Amino acid sequence: MTFNPAPRRKFTTLQRAAFFRDHGGICYLCGGKINAAAGEAWEIEHVIAREIMGRDADEDSNLALAHKKCHASKTAQDRRTIAKSNQVQAKHIGARPPSRWPQRPKSPRREQHSATRPIVRTS
Ligand SMILES: [Zn+2]
Repeated sequence: MTFNPAPRRKFTTLQRAAFFRDHGGICYLCGGKINAAAGEAWEIEHVIAREIMGRDADEDSNLALAHKKCHASKTAQDRRTIAKSNQVQAKHIGARPPSRWPQRPKSPRREQHSATRPIVRTS
């Protein structure tokens, strides 16, 4: 996973207008009509986040039209997913520093007290 600090693709006003028309004025996240004439804010969105896809994220096929509010909640979810993924990866490769707290010893397995029939452990 590499973050791409390259500048974002810029759209002119005419390009944004053409993009809006080409996508039918429909938010691809909620499927709702974007009522831009009534001042509803919209954005051109990366379907697969730029942070995941890198430079290729700016390809036309990865761009879609979305309400600003829908885009914001998707981005927030993407960030959580990416952060979790980074933590899991860091743990997997042993990059996490050892805990500063003393480790509690594992409690011994307790005898099972109740059952309708005796339980036979297989492992
Ligand atoms: Zn939407």
